[in-house]
Amino acid sequence: EEHTNSNKNEVTRELSLTGSGSTDSGVRADSLDKHSNARWPRQNSLSMKEWDIPYDDVKIFEVIGAGRFGTVCRGSWHGAVAVKLLHVLPLSDDGSLLDTFKHEVSIFRKTRHENLVLFMGACMKPPRLAIVTSLCKGMTLYTHIHLRKDKFTANKSVLVAQQISQGMGYLHARGIIHKDLKTKNIFLESGKVVITDFGLFSVTKLCFGNNARGDSLGIPSGWLCYLAPEIIRALRPHASLLLPFSKATDIYAFGTVWYELLCGEFPFKGQPPESIIWQVGKGVKQSLANMQASRDIKDILMVCWSYRAADRPDFPSLLNTLQKLPKKRLARSPSHPVHLSRSADS
Ligand code: ADP
Ligand code: MG
Repeated sequence: EEHTNSNKNEVTRELSLTGSGSTDSGVRADSLDKHSNARWPRQNSLSMKEWDIPYDDVKIFEVIGAGRFGTVCRGSWHGAVAVKLLHVLPLSDDGSLLDTFKHEVSIFRKTRHENLVLFMGACMKPPRLAIVTSLCKGMTLYTHIHLRKDKFTANKSVLVAQQISQGMGYLHARGIIHKDLKTKNIFLESGKVVITDFGLFSVTKLCFGNNARGDSLGIPSGWLCYLAPEIIRALRPHASLLLPFSKATDIYAFGTVWYELLCGEFPFKGQPPESIIWQVGKGVKQSLANMQASRDIKDILMVCWSYRAADRPDFPSLLNTLQKLPKKRLARSPSHPVHLSRSADS
């Protein structure tokens, strides 16, 4: 269809060229104008349609869970989907919320990667704001680690971390900062990592930020451990939109995920928020003294948790480091013929 349209455009252009009696340059400007007018709005509206899902087209079933910024339901839209319904307050009806939402959704829709949840579309008619994604089948890493107490071997942890680094590396290469990387936002579908909720932080905070009252700082439980020192130091009531998120703060959060995978618990376990804020803010890290792991594995933690953002690695270099880990470990195993022959080579 796109093809016939552009053909038609060519025809109109030719007609106006022959039909007009004005100078050469004048005609060209005119036809170019027509050309662009005919072309760009159509393309824009096409792509808008792609992700503007009419709310009534989505069948909504049971609530799966409630997060910081809304309710997640199982739904159906050309198959099983997850529908994130955002809480919108009537008073935030000044258009800026919708603009932020549209902006974040426009970022979301540009993502295509194996390890990222599939964005399918959004409902954007206030007060109904919803995001429709594919429904993740497995469980989150959080459920595996903290609820089911599943143990991840070092090799399994490395495979999971590699996939997280791949998905996150892709996001960063596209200029997208996750801002909320945590084990609750990482699904494991029969060995495959699927990352969710990237880049939606501002919308979530806009919805809820307006609701916050008084001078208290509402900190959702389990959030602090993922926050880099520079974010911790910037925490104050009502300032969540100004927090200095960056690629480096995503790396810090990855460090915490890596720690959870290896140790089965959160860093600073059992300590009150005030104490965590105080320690992280001045550069104290969770001690690794009692941790059973090789030096290489602990080094990854320490470098991701670097106090200075500039000292933290990026995802491609993390991936590189992680890819070297299992080989080294397997090479030492005498029961693995492939690696035995390799070590015989070297
Ligand atoms: P949080 O990430 O803090 O748990 P969310 O609002 O993102 O809060 O999610 C609420 C619940 O919905 C969680 O239990 C989460 O695992 C589940 N959920 C979110 N997105 C999906 C999805 N795409 N597929 C399946 N379940 C999901
Ligand atoms: Mg989530």
